[in-house]
Amino acid sequence: MKIGTPKETYKGENRVAMTPDSAVQLQKLGFECLIEKGAGAAAGFSDAAYEAAGVEVAKTAASLWKAADIIAKVRQPDATELKRLTKDKTLISFFNPAGNEEGMEAAKSKGATVIAMEMVPRISRAQKMDALSSMANIAGYRAVIEAGNNFGRFFTGQVTAAGKVPPAKVLIVGAGVAGLAAIGTSTSLGAITYAFDVRPEVAEQVESMGAEFVYLDFEEDQQDGASTGGYASVQSDEFREAQLAKFRELAPEIDIVITTALIPNREAPELWTKDMVEAMKPGSVIVDLAAEKGGNCKLTVADEKIVTDNGVTIIGYTDFPSRMAAQSSSLYATNIRHMMTDLTPEKDGKVNHDMEDDVIRGATVTHEGEITFPPPPPKVQ
Ligand code: NAD
Repeated sequence: MKIGTPKETYKGENRVAMTPDSAVQLQKLGFECLIEKGAGAAAGFSDAAYEAAGVEVAKTAASLWKAADIIAKVRQPDATELKRLTKDKTLISFFNPAGNEEGMEAAKSKGATVIAMEMVPRISRAQKMDALSSMANIAGYRAVIEAGNNFGRFFTGQVTAAGKVPPAKVLIVGAGVAGLAAIGTSTSLGAITYAFDVRPEVAEQVESMGAEFVYLDFEEDQQDGASTGGYASVQSDEFREAQLAKFRELAPEIDIVITTALIPNREAPELWTKDMVEAMKPGSVIVDLAAEKGGNCKLTVADEKIVTDNGVTIIGYTDFPSRMAAQSSSLYATNIRHMMTDLTPEKDGKVNHDMEDDVIRGATVTHEGEITFPPPPPKVQ
């Protein structure tokens, strides 16, 4: 069978779902590989590099979609791409099934199979296919780099002949995958790093990475930011007040805030209020990784960088992985390659779409003319 990767059509998207390296691995599974002309250019992979890896370059998106049995891409398909699906095709990409009824209906009516990468169950066996985590890791890293680029001072403290420089103080709000990556980057650059999460069980991880966990003035047995299946749940008013009071206390001394707090299937909680921004020193920076879901900071504008009247820079970019397209394409292409390995147990270049397999079942949103989303809970943890 042929697996093909088109050029991403979403404006400003630099990633690509197949790299020359991943193509070599896909060929070992028995597949022929195709790439649309120029699809890897923005991520630093030339057509010549693909050809050298045994990949056929298709001149147009239309010819690629026509020839490929399996299409691997990054962003959810646009209307033209949905029209190109047919009964015998499998699409593997982010698909946003919870907010893409139209896309699922279109794929169903064509009889195509869609595997949504954000639906890969978060169980140990599937970590190698977990594109949400691989992209969140990059976003967390890049958020700190972006903050540093907009912060006019060092992260690390220094004593120099020209004077003493205090270390920067960085607060990371939310210590999930992106938050932990941000903590690692911030501490390795030498900043004094604080982190907070509603899930108290992450305190140990935060501390093992050299950051200080921020505890609230709150009765421990009432600490109800607690988790459901590793994710945060909505907090009580009382808990929220205690959290905001702590942030208010920290705001005047913190130089950089990276917010990553999300609650599944909801708007991002608002945690950094206008008065906190106003209390920050001029030159401080906020990077809001929750911007796409409405933002954790009241003043965030999605996809923009703004500077407030008191000189605080607020970055609301929603495309951090795309800003590191070489790295994110390599990791995403590896996630896809592992998904293909699961789909091809015989390594014979033929897909065996096993709906009894927890991971494949969990990620499949349309199959054999049916919408199969949402999936049943996985049997194995
Ligand atoms: P996420 O992106 O949904 O949320 C980011 C973080 O924000 C979470 O840690 C959450 O607790 C936190 N948060 C929510 N509301 C908050 C608030 N009001 N204040 C502060 N923080 C708040 O989460 P994620 O990064 O996708 O990961 C969530 C969990 O899933 C983690 O425990 C992670 O270890 C786990 N996980 C497991 C696997 C696996 O087993 N394969 C893979 C990935 C993630």
